[in-house]
Amino acid sequence: MEPQKEERALRDPARPPGASRFRTPNEEQREGGAAPEAAALGAELDDASADGLWELPVEPAERRPECSRCSRPQKVCLCPFLPVHPLHISTYLYIIQHPAEENKVLRTVPLLAACLPQDKCKVKIGRRFSEERDPELSTVCRKSGTLILYPGAEAANLEEFILDSPVYPSTIIIIDGTWSQAKDIFHKNSLFRLPKQVN
Ligand SMILES: [Zn+2]
Repeated sequence: MEPQKEERALRDPARPPGASRFRTPNEEQREGGAAPEAAALGAELDDASADGLWELPVEPAERRPECSRCSRPQKVCLCPFLPVHPLHISTYLYIIQHPAEENKVLRTVPLLAACLPQDKCKVKIGRRFSEERDPELSTVCRKSGTLILYPGAEAANLEEFILDSPVYPSTIIIIDGTWSQAKDIFHKNSLFRLPKQVN
């Protein structure tokens, strides 16, 4: 990529719809909690590069070779910018991924997963989740230490919630998709309305 183009792209405030999902100014300032910070970092890296790439010509040929760690095309691999060793976090992350996200070339979740210990970050792909089909997820949703990152009307500020709460959250559920996909997943699965909502 030419340097001027990249610089302009980085400063360009125009974002594709859904690119800034879940990221409020509050979240960007937030310091506590390794997990949301890692998420914000991943989103930032992804947004910056993705914005620049909108202008590149699209090759109709087969998919370009992918980096096995961050799952991005090798030319835009972000591994040199990721921590060498997984970050130590005490909280488990459950990423609920809309199926459409899985096929995107520039995704945030593989970046996030690459920064975390494997056992701390689980990705579940789908639109509908139920007690019967997902007993494990259902148990997680019912635990009092589980939070869901969702900017609904009842959502509390995560930082304030953690400061006020006697126990540190054991699990955070994050829905990965465009804003409308995330909203759909949240509203059509009663399981996700059980945990405390934070933003
Ligand atoms: Zn990579």
